[in-house]
Amino acid sequence: MDRRRMTMSGTRIRFVVGFGLALAFLTVSTGYGQLKVVTTLPDLESIAKFIGGEQVDVYSIATGFQNPHFVDPKPSYILRLARADVFVTVGLDLEIGWVPSLLNSARNAKIQKGGEGYVDASLGVPLLQIPTSASRAQGDIHVYGNPHYWLNPLNGKVIARNILDAFVRTDPDHRSIYESNLKEFNETLDARMKLWAASMLPYKGKKIIAYHNEWPYFEQCFGLQIVDFLEPKPGIPPTPSQLLKIINTMKRDRIKIIVISPYFTTESADLVARSVGGKVITLATSVGANEKIKTYFELFDHNVSQLEEAFR
Ligand SMILES: [Zn+2]
Repeated sequence: MDRRRMTMSGTRIRFVVGFGLALAFLTVSTGYGQLKVVTTLPDLESIAKFIGGEQVDVYSIATGFQNPHFVDPKPSYILRLARADVFVTVGLDLEIGWVPSLLNSARNAKIQKGGEGYVDASLGVPLLQIPTSASRAQGDIHVYGNPHYWLNPLNGKVIARNILDAFVRTDPDHRSIYESNLKEFNETLDARMKLWAASMLPYKGKKIIAYHNEWPYFEQCFGLQIVDFLEPKPGIPPTPSQLLKIINTMKRDRIKIIVISPYFTTESADLVARSVGGKVITLATSVGANEKIKTYFELFDHNVSQLEEAFR
């Protein structure tokens, strides 16, 4: 009798302990109490993870090897957005083709434009290439100024600040944690910036060609000169006349490098490079463009080392 009772209570203890462990595991794996954050791009995800640390669970809709202008909306993204506390977007209509419909379908007032969890990461970024008249004529997809601003690492600080503001609005209890993470982010960025700038210094003023007009902020930061683009207009694929124009420019100015992004096919760039004895290099436009680039800092580590190698 005693033995049986012992066994039963043993089973019961095991059950209770097991249940407790399962609960603890669930709590950890689902991030109980964490802010649920959805970002459009992995660069925003990386910065949000840095600022939020353990307090946030961050998911990026786009991957680092997708063209951020064109992402196919999927039902799973709507579910994520419906449950999100914070939503971070690049803004400036970069994601005009996919974000408005996702936000509409998610029906989550918190993360709609103007909601406390909505973050337009471009707020406060000194914008480049603001057109004098906003028009989508000829397929222009940069109507409010060039939206690829995260490619200047110094703009990462502005993005981080915007994200912090939303975390503090939605989760004021952890304000001091977010603020100390922001401080660490900025210090890390400043330290890395010195290394990147030193690596790029010998190539100041170097002329290059790019496929899509997504490098003005990078160019501004590192002192390169991007002379022309294979796309005749942002979002319009290269045309024979544009390629001929580029070939002439490259020959005239002795330009040897064409920069493309992971989501463009290389045919037209290869053709031009062959005609002028130049080379094509693929730079990362986002975190996750390849498996080595896991953070916002590594994005610039990669691009700087690729360019150094190409110029050498
Ligand atoms: Zn663009």
